[in-house]
Amino acid sequence: MTPRAKILVVEDEKNIARVVTYTLEKEGYQVSVAKDGQEALDTARRESPDLLVLDLMLPGVDGLDVCRQLRADPRTAALSIIMLTAKTQEADRVVGLELGADDYLPKPFSPRELAARVKAVLRRAARPELPATWRCGGLEADWERRLIKVKQKSATLTPKEFELLRVLVEARGRVLSRAQLLERVWGYEQAVEIQSRTVDLHISQLRQKLGPEGKRILTVTGAGYRFRMPEEDAT
Ligand code: CA
Repeated sequence: MTPRAKILVVEDEKNIARVVTYTLEKEGYQVSVAKDGQEALDTARRESPDLLVLDLMLPGVDGLDVCRQLRADPRTAALSIIMLTAKTQEADRVVGLELGADDYLPKPFSPRELAARVKAVLRRAARPELPATWRCGGLEADWERRLIKVKQKSATLTPKEFELLRVLVEARGRVLSRAQLLERVWGYEQAVEIQSRTVDLHISQLRQKLGPEGKRILTVTGAGYRFRMPEEDAT
């Protein structure tokens, strides 16, 4: 984990903001607080924190909007976000994940639970970049030369299929929503016009081309897709 990671807490309820700040400072993080969505956006752009603890219900620009705007801005797109919410309905959870929150914590939560989630999300985000060449079961990738082999035979991936595979592998087992995949593979401007069904179509083509290793691309119902990493094979 990053011991001096910067965390921005976005919460309009003073008592909750205070408890969260106290909890995270005790864990050694650098914490700042924003009281509404606009302040959150300004602070995130100015201070580039490592992680946002973002309340869903905020005056003015709400948490989902903050999340959407941060993800759309290349300066803040990679920020880790944990959403806090009083709502526990499945629909809200799915919307939060679709918009790119990394994790979700319903209120009321214990400080210990929050600290554990923060630590886990930061640990996932801090993983090193992929090595230039990479092997996973029968799958071999040379990311720089853009060569993919399955069982020592070259797989002919289209540029989009190649990017899709790289983005999934880079996420190291994390779920990526269709919206995130659209943004990262197709680019944000185009993502607005391309149907998320396009993602499903490319995923299914990519799975086929990867043969037996195609099974590593998992569908997570209501959330998106993830890549089953070789280290998960033993479990
Ligand atoms: Ca609130």
